[in-house]
Amino acid sequence: MSEALVFYSKADSADEWISALRPHLPDLEMRVAPDVGDPLDVHYAVVWKPPQGFFVPFTNLKLVVNLGAGVDALVSRTDLPDLPVTRLSDPHMSRMMASFVLMSVLRHARDIPAFEKAQREKRWNYVHPRMAGDIKVGVLGLGELGSAAVLELSLQGFDVRGWSRTQKRLPGIDCRAGMDALPQFLSECEILVVMLPLTRDTHHLINAERLALLPQGAKFINVARGPIVDEPALIAALQSGHISEATLDVFEHEPLPQDSPLWGMENVLITPHLASVAIPRTAAAQVAQNIHRVRSGEPVLNRVDPGRGY
Ligand code: NDP
Repeated sequence: MSEALVFYSKADSADEWISALRPHLPDLEMRVAPDVGDPLDVHYAVVWKPPQGFFVPFTNLKLVVNLGAGVDALVSRTDLPDLPVTRLSDPHMSRMMASFVLMSVLRHARDIPAFEKAQREKRWNYVHPRMAGDIKVGVLGLGELGSAAVLELSLQGFDVRGWSRTQKRLPGIDCRAGMDALPQFLSECEILVVMLPLTRDTHHLINAERLALLPQGAKFINVARGPIVDEPALIAALQSGHISEATLDVFEHEPLPQDSPLWGMENVLITPHLASVAIPRTAAAQVAQNIHRVRSGEPVLNRVDPGRGY
């Protein structure tokens, strides 16, 4: 019986992934769904949002690899087999995200939206720049991506604080943890960046009440998942001016519906969910490493806890 890997993604290039994986796993058959051959050969599934029922025929499956850092779509399924599930963990992916967050924070910190508006109106609008160290930035979520982002922001001299479920220690970062610390944390964030996973606990965590805790005129950045934020509440806060500007890469419904008021807001930058992407060239080695670990009976790395949701 041969040993095979099955690939499924509508968002990623199967050719690119298979070319990147093959040198690391020369003896493994690579099959792209729906051409799965004999499903009993399939021991590894490398997937992004496969259709419901996808896993059923693969009764010899040993590992599910999620082709991304966010696992909410996978762990919320009712048909996820009871097997090790891993996520991508790639320093290049973290760097891509950290640079997007840095770009977004700098854009707000250096008043670029005001200059873009003034330029459209042919208006010379001098706004005296503030030092980065005087600007308080907060990041919700200090995981792989969040911790890379806070360190990048700190390097630029911002006054950075981060919040997570359990206490973290990161050089130069004011780290806080737990729900009790959240209200005070939010009240300090002139610029808030959401970098949490979407779980039962974080769904609509950022609601009207918590948005109201942000300082008047705060800037808001979401690069994590849309449903972490109550979108109508965010829209209301943007309309009232309580939140003065936002950069949104993710939304409750994607693509963002045509009738969303967000499209028409001058103080909102919309990007189509691309703050960071999976990079086959760099991430293939750790996918292969986990397959080797399964083969030799070792525990896999970057394992997801489906019960916890991330
Ligand atoms: P990780 O799983 O590595 O880290 C998650 C962080 O959030 C941890 O610090 C964790 O705390 C914290 N957290 C989780 N639940 C809670 C909670 N209830 N209260 C407080 N803190 C909590 O995630 P990553 O950093 O790798 O990625 C974050 C998210 O970014 C992904 O889940 C994904 O949704 C999104 N993403 C978006 C992309 C885009 O292009 N826009 C691309 C890739 C990812 P603790 O450390 O204590 O466990």
